[in-house]
Amino acid sequence: MSEVAAELARSELFRDVPAEVLQMVADHAAPLELAPGAILLAPEWPNHHVYVLLSGRLGLHFEAAESPEIRELAPGVAVGEMSIIADALPSAYVVAKEACRVFPIHRDLVQHIVDANPLARNLLRLMSQWLKANTQRIVQDRTQIWELTDRANVDALTGLYNRRWLDNALTRLLAQAAKSGQPLCVIIADVDDFKRYNDSHGHPAGDRALTAFGDVLKTTVRPYDFAARYGGEEFLVLLPNTVLAEGVAVAERIRRMAEVQRVAGADGKLLPGITVSLGLAASGAATTAESLVAAADAQLYRAKGDGRNCVRY
Ligand code: GH3
Ligand code: MG
Ligand code: MG
Repeated sequence: MSEVAAELARSELFRDVPAEVLQMVADHAAPLELAPGAILLAPEWPNHHVYVLLSGRLGLHFEAAESPEIRELAPGVAVGEMSIIADALPSAYVVAKEACRVFPIHRDLVQHIVDANPLARNLLRLMSQWLKANTQRIVQDRTQIWELTDRANVDALTGLYNRRWLDNALTRLLAQAAKSGQPLCVIIADVDDFKRYNDSHGHPAGDRALTAFGDVLKTTVRPYDFAARYGGEEFLVLLPNTVLAEGVAVAERIRRMAEVQRVAGADGKLLPGITVSLGLAASGAATTAESLVAAADAQLYRAKGDGRNCVRY
């Protein structure tokens, strides 16, 4: 066995790997010398190799190559395997902390070795699908957190998402729904006889009632649903991965909660409560954001026609 093959044999990646495979890999390439500070992997560079660290120390950094080190990597570790498996860009910066020697193994060679064992190959394919899906989800979660902290997307009166957010989110959630094959359910809620409420109790009282209904939505929808103020006294609730029947149950819960929600005036005295009418629609294969909202709106119109304070779908 060559010296490089012997060094590879001590790495976590090549543990228990037969000598002939080790030698085949070792003959395939030569170790790379990294100067201190050299960047081996970066999220902006596509990566095609798994690197085995033979000697020296590597540092792992998240935000930038200069950002604080997250972890130190010692000889024997492999880096870059995640981006190969998930067919994605590297998730972090890997920087040489001192002079290092790394052994590059091209993805095609990895594929070739893995193909010799169908079980390993299938497992790896399953794992790669799982990784890709999860990476996507993490990116989406991050986008949502960013949007939540962006005041430009939040309605000042109710603290719910606003129309601006909704227009972007609806398109994105619909695309997700089409991809996953799971329906997106949309509920439109409209306060009943709200013009009269304002006329009877004053516009500030109307504002208090809208805030109270916003609180109903915040506490009634599920953690993975979204509630937004669509405009005036109209609200939209987006329910990802939800069939119509489930959506109807959520809408009915919103209707009941709104009915019993107390509205306190600025002076602390209790104001009359409000009721809402709700219309629902679920996305099909070819639904656009506009047609989905229009379908829910048509059901809301029916709910108003049927006497208000009810759910139609
Ligand atoms: P319907 O049951 O058919 O929905 O009757 P409605 O009176 O609720 O419907 P309409 O569309 O005629 O009136 C909506 C009212 O909502 C009129 C408007 O002044 C009031 N409104 C819209 N936005 C606000 C707001 O931010 N604050 C207050 N207080 N009132 C609002
Ligand atoms: Mg209205
Ligand atoms: Mg109304």
